[in-house]
Amino acid sequence: MSSLDQDQCLHPSCRDKTTVSSDPSDACDLAKQPLQGLKLASHEVLENAQQKGRLKCTKCGGSRMFFCYTCCSLVGVTLQDIPLIKLPVKIDIIKHPNETDGKSTAIHAKILAPNDVTIYTYPCIPDYEKDKVVLVFPGPGAVSVRDMMQCLYDRTDSQSHDYSHGHSVKRLKREEGQGATHTDKNPESGTQGEKEGSESRVYPLQRVVFIDSTWNQTNKISTDERLQDFIRVELKTRKTCFWRRQKGKPDTYLATIEAIYYFLKDYHELFVAEEYKGEYDNLLFFYSYLHSVINTAKASAGKC
Ligand SMILES: [Zn+2]
Repeated sequence: MSSLDQDQCLHPSCRDKTTVSSDPSDACDLAKQPLQGLKLASHEVLENAQQKGRLKCTKCGGSRMFFCYTCCSLVGVTLQDIPLIKLPVKIDIIKHPNETDGKSTAIHAKILAPNDVTIYTYPCIPDYEKDKVVLVFPGPGAVSVRDMMQCLYDRTDSQSHDYSHGHSVKRLKREEGQGATHTDKNPESGTQGEKEGSESRVYPLQRVVFIDSTWNQTNKISTDERLQDFIRVELKTRKTCFWRRQKGKPDTYLATIEAIYYFLKDYHELFVAEEYKGEYDNLLFFYSYLHSVINTAKASAGKC
């Protein structure tokens, strides 16, 4: 497999309207809404790279654009050209071996946040401490991001009752109570209080696991016995704008990079306790660009 699935759209004639801003008359406008207003690094570097066309990956020789999904290295752009993101929690992605690498959006996370993201190929799954890790996966028993932390505390509470931990739970509950109105707070005093809170709190969550595969393959990974006892988190209110949306699946089934982004945004707003200011928007740096290019191509072909 030497080509990205989006090949047919990545040619110069598709290069107009490659930013996330959209024409109101565009039939795809609704589908683009979730990506409006993101704080993104300039896409100019991607536009320029796209104009040059595909290049050979210096490591494997594969024909690639922007990055090599096999070697996880940049192609035609440099590290200085792309945003690098620091995440508030480590992310592991378990990839299905049959998932075509060129179609996966997991690689976007690894390239844009290389220090915080690790990709494993199933059946390789690290040996996790189950009370410090959550699995983002929908289904019965899955909890919201808001409830996740309390579930982790409850789980560790049942194993340990030391004083410092009990203190953390109280603090979390108190701040959750304020959560609904935190945007109304005086900005200065709010920021100060939130900073103190984030410094003194110790959260049990160390790592968040995502599964990267088609939703049919995902069943095999999610039912693996090594992933059974995790707290599962569901991102119920988000809708995908993935151009490879799977037939017969609801639009709340997200592309991997969307799931990571929305999880982190919720996590930040709930537990980092400062206003979200677009810190992780650049996780969608490639995704929003490709989304825009492909939707523009579909619209001009009258298929949207
Ligand atoms: Zn390569």
